Amino acid sequence: MLTWQQARENVIEVVRARMSRRGRGHVRLDRALGRVLAQPVTADRDQPAFPRSIRDGYAVRAADTAMLPAEFEIVAEIKAGSAFHGVISSGQAARIMTGAPVPAGADAVVMVEYTHPLSETRVAVERSVTPGQHIVDRGTEARAGQTLLDPGRRIGFGELALLAEVGCAQVRVFRQQRVAVLSTGDEIIPVDREPGPYQIRDTNSLSLSAQVSLAGARPVLIRRAQDESAELGERIREGLAADVLVLSGGVSKGKYDLVEAVLSDLGAEFYFDAVAIRPGRPAVFGWCAGKPVFGLPGNPVSTMVTFELLVTPALDLLSGAEPRPLPLASAKLSVPLDEKEGLTHFLPAHIDWKESGAEARPVRWRGSGDLAGMAQANGFLVVPADRPRWQQGEQIQVLLRRDLL
Ligand code: AMP
Ligand code: MG
Repeated sequence: MLTWQQARENVIEVVRARMSRRGRGHVRLDRALGRVLAQPVTADRDQPAFPRSIRDGYAVRAADTAMLPAEFEIVAEIKAGSAFHGVISSGQAARIMTGAPVPAGADAVVMVEYTHPLSETRVAVERSVTPGQHIVDRGTEARAGQTLLDPGRRIGFGELALLAEVGCAQVRVFRQQRVAVLSTGDEIIPVDREPGPYQIRDTNSLSLSAQVSLAGARPVLIRRAQDESAELGERIREGLAADVLVLSGGVSKGKYDLVEAVLSDLGAEFYFDAVAIRPGRPAVFGWCAGKPVFGLPGNPVSTMVTFELLVTPALDLLSGAEPRPLPLASAKLSVPLDEKEGLTHFLPAHIDWKESGAEARPVRWRGSGDLAGMAQANGFLVVPADRPRWQQGEQIQVLLRRDLL
């Protein structure tokens, strides 16, 4: 059985090798959050385009502040968006605002806090400045034509701001991946239906769609399939119209776990059908009709964990980006642990971000169907297969819930 790291590597390798050429198109910048750049981004002009004051104060010659206090004649006032076209000579100052261009002759800005007015036209300076202080020179952030972002970069809020700065109102991105989400199981009913005594509401369609969206792809909901080969086959075919198919349920060894068999009949090739983890052991990864297919175990927490470990990197690659790293961190364990050897356990946990560092404790839960327990967790303790026993106070790895970061 593969370890989760091997399974994840396997997904990455297979998707890299087998994915077809990705489509591209333009989107408006205000709709580009989470998309992946399909073009390089270059500076359209020097940044900043002029020597910019980064403080409110007085633009002066730094040398004039060597002896304190120093007095200056105020010869101009420069607001952001305007300029003074004269030259500041020795003994002169321009009142200047943050974001305004520093005039010729001046080489530093004294913060207004270190000055006091003597009259309308004279100011006293109480602190020295050094040449260049509080000024960002033209072109020091970026030169016109310089590449600022390469294709394959995911667009977050910082990248959006940079794209706006260089005037990229439309941006070329890779096509968003459509991910079919297909829940299986006779007992599963839609959320808005009243469950019979032994039925349960479909929670995986919701959580999986959310995980798909968080990964930057678009979920496509397929109507749930009963544990019956013909119907399951039909729904799978429907799901294969999307770029990726993610199923939940029906991958264990029960008599009515039909997903693998039905996928096989449709010509699927499988890369693995088990991973040494709990929850999530029966996770399946294969390729069917040219598309990656994931069969995730139906227990809601298993579904969440296996999606994060196995599906997210595939979606990243298919979206034109490199797989993002797992949100792993280290935390001090506040209770001892004693788990079963041989499987890596992902235990729903609460991680407390204290000033002294992160502390983690498992939440009370009744196994991978326990959503009430899961909702108390903001991450998982990662208890490695070969290290099942831990003492209180040890540093242990935690996997953070991406949706709560
Ligand atoms: P399975 O993987 O099909 O054996 O299902 C394992 C457990 O997960 C069973 O208790 C199912 O009832 C439950 N389950 C399966 N699919 C879903 C779903 N879509 N929503 C909520 N629970 C599910
Ligand atoms: Mg089932």
